[in-house]
Amino acid sequence: MERVYNFSAGPSMLPLPVLEKAQKELVSLGSTGMSVMEMSHRSGVYQNIVTEAETLLRELMNIPENYKVLFLQGGASLQFSMIPLNLFRNKKADYVNTGSWSKKAASEAKKYGEARVVASSEQDRFTTIPELHRSMFDPEADYVHITTNNTIEGTCYAEIPDTGHVPLVADMSSNILSEVYDVSKFGLIYAGAQKNIGPAGVTVVIIREDLIGHAPAFCPTMLDYKIHADNESMYNTPPTFAIYMAKLVFEWLKDLGGIPAMEKINREKAKLLYDFLDESEMFQSPVAPKYRSLMNIPFTSPSAELDKKFVQEAKAAGLETLKGHRSVGGMRASIYNAMPVEGVQKLVAFMKEFERNNR
Ligand code: PMP
Repeated sequence: MERVYNFSAGPSMLPLPVLEKAQKELVSLGSTGMSVMEMSHRSGVYQNIVTEAETLLRELMNIPENYKVLFLQGGASLQFSMIPLNLFRNKKADYVNTGSWSKKAASEAKKYGEARVVASSEQDRFTTIPELHRSMFDPEADYVHITTNNTIEGTCYAEIPDTGHVPLVADMSSNILSEVYDVSKFGLIYAGAQKNIGPAGVTVVIIREDLIGHAPAFCPTMLDYKIHADNESMYNTPPTFAIYMAKLVFEWLKDLGGIPAMEKINREKAKLLYDFLDESEMFQSPVAPKYRSLMNIPFTSPSAELDKKFVQEAKAAGLETLKGHRSVGGMRASIYNAMPVEGVQKLVAFMKEFERNNR
């Protein structure tokens, strides 16, 4: 069976060498005689895997020493609740509304206190990122929340806002490890794994130490960052296989030259597609050029019928999961780290041919 180019927004493609390595080690990891899935999370072999995963992530993202790296469960969606639960002291935070996920994050925070929407691009149908200035943020807020990359709408911050002394919290689910970020600018970064990290099931949280340990007494033990930090993500059974896979992805990324090398490739891939969209008479990108995502590229044809035909014919040509999100329609190509340049080249060639054939 030949592998297809899978443009799914997540779970999405994993690097083939990672899958092949996992396949090789699936039945017996090294000389252990057991699968990593069958192994106690307290065993020495498994402890080494988690330690290595953390060390590699720290190295890749250049994470300062005063930050903890946590491997949690519950997806990015659980972080929508854990963040206000753990970080609220003045019980107010500022949220920037740039799409469906940031909206969901804000509505969870409202259950614990005030979640003020300081800026929004909703009036532009989320095709842009609002201009932000330090003076817009409440200096008394416990944090400012942004979504660095909007998976559904295909927008991405061109620069990271200056929030002064107020900690910046970022949902990086769909662009973590895809471009260089200065972690020290953030109080907390979180990301579900199923795009650039590994399979679904593990959620990465990178948190500055001074933000840990302020959860209220009623906070469920499992939702307290301090519990996970004190127990090095081993308070209970972690998602062992997902963390092992993440470690393999981190190794792959390191071998490739780390995030700067990956970013260069990602920029090339995105440019291929955007350049074509800008010259095409059939396909269009709805997103303001300054804020175009490198990871999720929505585009439209002139009609819903043509969109449907495109998605069907693309699938037959080995280009999978190009249908746009139900809330925006059209098409969307998610081209995360694991999507090879050849996949994007093949997509652009297919789009050119489709345009010629359907004039
Ligand atoms: N935030 C963003 C930016 C996302 O793209 C997603 C998932 N696609 C989520 C949050 C929700 O993640 P999860 O399914 O891991 O809860």
